[in-house]
Amino acid sequence: MDTERLIFFRDIILSSRDKLLRSVKGIESEINAYMGQQLIEFNERSGEETAVHLLNKLDYRQKKELSFIEEALSRIRSKTYGICIRCGKNIPEDRLLALPYTTACKPCAVKET
Ligand SMILES: [Zn+2]
Repeated sequence: MDTERLIFFRDIILSSRDKLLRSVKGIESEINAYMGQQLIEFNERSGEETAVHLLNKLDYRQKKELSFIEEALSRIRSKTYGICIRCGKNIPEDRLLALPYTTACKPCAVKET
């Protein structure tokens, strides 16, 4: 992939990272509100446990997405972005536009599942 296209996809990926981090902030305030409510409804201990459980759950999903984002950015830096890790062929751009973090072309991804 040429540098111009790499920059194009880097910008798409950076803006989804931005969106993700912003949504984490939003979720944080939801958790705080939820925690406050729980503390009123239950005793302190059970309210805390529920909030911690909720936080862990969100963290896992968001951490996973963040790691996909970071991996994609590092592939862009090493200029291997858009190359299928299985067969080494170029991944079609329409697939990259739909799935910017994908590491495999469609035939390889289908084979894998
Ligand atoms: Zn492939």
